[in-house]
Amino acid sequence: MNYKSDCITEAEPTRKKVIENYEKCYGSVNIILMQRTYIKDVKGKTGEEVKISGFVDVRRDHGKLIFIDLRDISGKVQMVALPNHKEAHKLAGEVRPEWVIEVMGKVNKRPEKLINKNEPNGEVELEVLEIKILNQAETPPFNLQSDGKEIGEEARLKYRFLDLRRPRLQTNMVNRFKITQFVRNALEKEGFVEIETPLLSATTPEGSRDYIVPARLDKGKFYSLPQSPQQYKQLIMVAGFERYFQFARCMRDEDTRGDRQPEFTQLDLEMSFVAQEDVMALNEKLLIELVKAIYPEKKIQEIPFPRLTYKEVVEKYKTDKPDLRQDKNNPDLLAFLWIVDFPFFEKDDKTKPNSDGTPKWTFTHNPFSAPKPEHMDWLMKAEQIPEILTTQYDVVLNGFEIGGGSIRNHRPEALKKVFQIMGYTDDRIEKNFGHMLKALSSGAPPHGGIAWGFDRLVMLLQNEPNIREVIAFAKTGEGRDLMMGAPSEVSSEQLAELGIKITPR
Ligand code: ASP
Repeated sequence: MNYKSDCITEAEPTRKKVIENYEKCYGSVNIILMQRTYIKDVKGKTGEEVKISGFVDVRRDHGKLIFIDLRDISGKVQMVALPNHKEAHKLAGEVRPEWVIEVMGKVNKRPEKLINKNEPNGEVELEVLEIKILNQAETPPFNLQSDGKEIGEEARLKYRFLDLRRPRLQTNMVNRFKITQFVRNALEKEGFVEIETPLLSATTPEGSRDYIVPARLDKGKFYSLPQSPQQYKQLIMVAGFERYFQFARCMRDEDTRGDRQPEFTQLDLEMSFVAQEDVMALNEKLLIELVKAIYPEKKIQEIPFPRLTYKEVVEKYKTDKPDLRQDKNNPDLLAFLWIVDFPFFEKDDKTKPNSDGTPKWTFTHNPFSAPKPEHMDWLMKAEQIPEILTTQYDVVLNGFEIGGGSIRNHRPEALKKVFQIMGYTDDRIEKNFGHMLKALSSGAPPHGGIAWGFDRLVMLLQNEPNIREVIAFAKTGEGRDLMMGAPSEVSSEQLAELGIKITPR
C-alpha cells in the first residue's frame, strides 16, 4: 500500500511538496496519511491494516520478539514487533514506557493459547509494520500501571498530568462527565435553564471565611469568591426564570478539615412556586434515575428514600448523617435518606451574649431559609426561637451529606426578621442585604432549592475514598496546588499596583 505513488500526481505540486517534507522528517508517509483507529475498535478489524496512536504502556523485549502494549483513551492493545520488519523492530527496541507513538500494523487473531478473555482486545494482536515516534518521555516518577493507591499523594498531586493517565482516574473523570451530562439533560427536560453566576462578587453569609480578591481599580476594596450562588439563584427566581440550575464552583476558606477542598462543585438548583415536597420529590427522582442510567449495577436500599427528623436521627444515631446500609461490605449498595425539621437557630458561642444576658443566635444552615409554615408566626414575633424549625432538607448517602436546601423566605419582612434575631443592626442589614430585601419587595415568587455536593456524590458512586480522586486537579488538605505551586508570592509590582503591603510575619 503505497499512498505516495497511488495518490500523488504531478498535477498536485503543493501536496507533493508537503508529502516530501513529511518524508524528510518522518521517513515514511504511509503512516501519516492513514486515518487513526481508536484502540477499542481494533478487535473488529482482524486481517486489516490500521493506524493507532497512543502512549506506550509496557514493553517486553524478548530480543527477536518485542511486545508493546499501547494505550489510548479508549483502551489497550498488545502489539508485537518482528525482526522481518527491520525498521519497525529497531524502533520498537528504542521506545520506552509513556513515549507517544503512532503505529501502523496488521490486526492478527492471537493463537488460541494466547487469548486473554479478560481484555477487550485479548483475542487480537497488532503486528507492527511501522512506528513513528511522536515524542519521547522521561521515566515517570511513579508507577502508572497500578491504581495508584500505594503512591504518596503529594507526588500524585504534583505530577497530576501523569497520575491522571491511570485507568482508575480516567474512569473517574469520564463517569463524572457522564453524570453531569445526565443531570443536564434530565433537568432540561424538567424545564430548567442553566445560568452562570459571577465568581467575583461580594461577601456572603454562608458561615465560612471568604476568599477575597483585591480590586485594582478600586484600591482598598475586595471582591469575594462565592461560597455558593445562593443569593444569585434567588435573584434569578425574582427575575422570573422559575427553574434554574448550574454546576457551580464554590470557594470556602476553611481550616484544614478532613476531606475538604478550598474549591468544590455544587449542582445548584432553584425553583419557583414550590413547596418543600416538590423540591424533594424532583431531587429524589433525579437521583434514582441517575443511578439507574449510569450505575445499573448499584442497588438503592430503599425507595422512596426514608425520612427522619433531625431530632429522631440525632437521638437514634447520634449523628445527622447516619450510614443506614444494611450491609456495609457491599460496595454497590446505596442508602439514601432525607433529614428534615432542623432547628432554624442555634446559640452562637463565637460571640458574647447580649448585654441583658440573652444568648446571641445564629442560623444552623442557611439564613435565607423560611421557617416551617406553622412556625412563621414565632419567627415574626421572635418568640420560641430555639423551637422554630426550618424548611431545610438534607439528603444523606451512605453516611455522607450529599446535598441540602430549603424553601426560602420570599417576603422581605421575614428575611429581615432572621437577621434581626441574629442581632444585626438595621444599618448592617441594609448594607449587606439591601439588594435582597429590595428584590423580595419587587414581586418575588415563593421559591426554594437545593445544592448537591457534587464531588462527594461522584466519590460515593465511584467507590472512591475521598473527593480528591474525582477532582482532576485537586489541592492538598492544606489548600495547596502542588503542581502549579499555588498559593505563590507575587511580584512587588503587582502588589504596588493593588496598593497592598505585606507585613512580615
Ligand atoms: N446554598 C446552600 C449551600 O451551599 C444550598 C441551598 O440551600 O440551596 O449549602
